[in-house]
Amino acid sequence: MDAETNLPKGAILSGSDAASLRLAGRIIKTGGLVAFPTETVYGLGCDAMNPEAAAKVFEAKQRPQFDPLIVHLADRAQLDNVVASQPPMAQTLMDEFWPGPLTLVLPKQSIVPDLVTAGLSTVAVRMPNHPIAQALIREAGTPIAAPSANPFGYVSPTTARHVSESLRNKVDIILDGGPCQVGVESTIVSLLGPQPQLLRPGSITLEQLAAVIGPVCSLPPSYNHPIAPGQLARHYATLTPLTILTSAGTRPVLRPNERAGLLLISQSRESQTCFAAVEVLSPTDDIREAARNLFAALRKLDSLGLDRIYAEPCREVGLGVAIMDRLRRCAAY
Ligand code: AMP
Ligand code: MG
Repeated sequence: MDAETNLPKGAILSGSDAASLRLAGRIIKTGGLVAFPTETVYGLGCDAMNPEAAAKVFEAKQRPQFDPLIVHLADRAQLDNVVASQPPMAQTLMDEFWPGPLTLVLPKQSIVPDLVTAGLSTVAVRMPNHPIAQALIREAGTPIAAPSANPFGYVSPTTARHVSESLRNKVDIILDGGPCQVGVESTIVSLLGPQPQLLRPGSITLEQLAAVIGPVCSLPPSYNHPIAPGQLARHYATLTPLTILTSAGTRPVLRPNERAGLLLISQSRESQTCFAAVEVLSPTDDIREAARNLFAALRKLDSLGLDRIYAEPCREVGLGVAIMDRLRRCAAY
């Protein structure tokens, strides 16, 4: 219960309401936690400059401290407080993709707490393209450090209800902005080395990056040997075991009495009566719609007590790279 407002912990408030935004800004400023919508997924936000507040985020998510947070900005004026230098390529990428789902890893200012960056000399920054996220950062008057608003390792939330289901008791309030439009996390690019390097595929595609800055080094994802913090093999994962089918159109041979769910990228014509549940990410085979619906569909299938989820793969081009990355991590053990 919030002493000032009498709101129960984890209350869901409209993110479009000015009074709710003011309250949320005050909560951040005074070291509390606010879950808020962005275009990618819902974030669990705190004052990025307050190590005690950041500690609450790690505690709420049960997130290991080696996994750094992304710092969210409302405008580029806030950058100078957070990053120590901006190579020309960073400026080019910001001009092109900010506000938007692109996170840049740059040298950090010493004022950024070590907990936020997991002790690294670098910081990950992005400017979300969502009016509620931007308004919240402005109200708070400080950059907001935020990981996805879910227990560590679980499927990211794309609605306020998803957040409430698992973190209601751990967050002061939840701002509701409806379902997230992008649905998968931001693309992360490191600008520390001689060549830009992709650390996490996301909704800004390699093709889009290459069109602006030329080739981006994208090491083949090594799910067993992470090259950056947070690149854990098993992540974004359902509690129900998930198997990726060898190709679109392949169907598994189910064990006797196996209660299985099927996750399809697009509508298929065949009968699926042997499955206890089927989720179709995009009936019209639109990869953006598929990304938007991915996490909600995984959560839905995961709530049914199935023995296994079988997932159809998609083509690994464009946004398909990010979708397959999330499915592989979900399937990893
Ligand atoms: P999320 O899990 O969506 O909160 O995104 C946070 C991820 O951003 C981490 O798990 C890391 O993979 C990445 N990240 C954040 N800060 C850094 C950094 N300084 N260097 C490299 N990667 C980072
Ligand atoms: Mg996450």
